[in-house]
Amino acid sequence: MKESIVKKVSVHTLKCPLIMPFTISSGSHKELENLLLKIELSDGTIGWGEAPIASHITGETIEKSAKNLRDFSHKIIGADIKNYLALLVKAEEFFEKNRSSLFAVQTAVMDAFCRFMAIPLWKLYGNKVSLGSTDITIVIGSEKDAFDFSLKMRARGFKIFKIKVGIDFDEDIKRVIAVKKAVKDCSIYLDANCAYSAKETISFISEIKKYGIVPEVLEQPVKKEDYEGLAFLSKKLKTAVVADESAYSLDDVSHMLRKNGVSGINIKMTKFGLLRAREIRQLAMAKGVKLMIGQMMESQLATFAALHFSMGSGGFDFLDLDTPYFLSAGVMSYDKKIISSSGIYNIGLVKKGIGAVPAKVYK
Ligand SMILES: [Mg+2]
Repeated sequence: MKESIVKKVSVHTLKCPLIMPFTISSGSHKELENLLLKIELSDGTIGWGEAPIASHITGETIEKSAKNLRDFSHKIIGADIKNYLALLVKAEEFFEKNRSSLFAVQTAVMDAFCRFMAIPLWKLYGNKVSLGSTDITIVIGSEKDAFDFSLKMRARGFKIFKIKVGIDFDEDIKRVIAVKKAVKDCSIYLDANCAYSAKETISFISEIKKYGIVPEVLEQPVKKEDYEGLAFLSKKLKTAVVADESAYSLDDVSHMLRKNGVSGINIKMTKFGLLRAREIRQLAMAKGVKLMIGQMMESQLATFAALHFSMGSGGFDFLDLDTPYFLSAGVMSYDKKIISSSGIYNIGLVKKGIGAVPAKVYK
């Protein structure tokens, strides 16, 4: 038997408590609970992928995703990992309605291929940059918690603070002011996760401007389907208006780009998978639209896969890859220098594959 043949595929779970509930306007994660896909080749090479399940955002569930992953597993046994592109396409057709599983399969395939070839994943994307600084999220909570957490993370070295808003207009304004007070010299991003109307957004932005606060990024201020609102705000505001929930498919994105309807796109590998993420990056760059790389609730495994893509291919303006900083325990083994305590990643240090391996394996 050739050495590069997929011999075994298995599905596992990954669980980890968080340091605090990760609360946004549309719901909350109390812990990380994701799926892992393990691909074993005939020469013993192993590749891992992670399916980040965010039921309150995508409607995907652990049970259904695990079943889909198991059903798909049979279809790639016996395939040659060197034909990785064919496997990525096959996965894209199968997982159209379960994108986090698509991401798990595609990254496990790439991890196995790159480990087999003994190269890091970023190399396949062109190796543009290796260092990146992520923002840190200020979740929805009290004004005091927002202030204290910002101060603490600033002391650790974080310089970009992404504040989740959208539960209560007045409370949100108080929290944004509190964060700015704690981290005067830092950049502020806002993410409303669909909660405001375009009109409310304008008054929100003018209100915080009175306190000298001009956010660099305003993510998904309006409803998913409110493309007009996004276009209006993108023209009206100096801040980059970044579509996240509104950019869930290639069609959504091309629609917005064709109409010059948005000033930024949040590419999440969990929404698009690897192939479409590449396509969307190119389309957006051709239109001069800003790019953010984001994520769901993910461990270092999925986070690194997104880093290899964004850093390796280049062109990303905003890095929003901070969920590993919310895990209360180590769940992956990796080269420690890749992730710093201050939000700086050095993906250039990965020697093989994605560069993270589950520390413990669950059934
Ligand atoms: Mg978002």
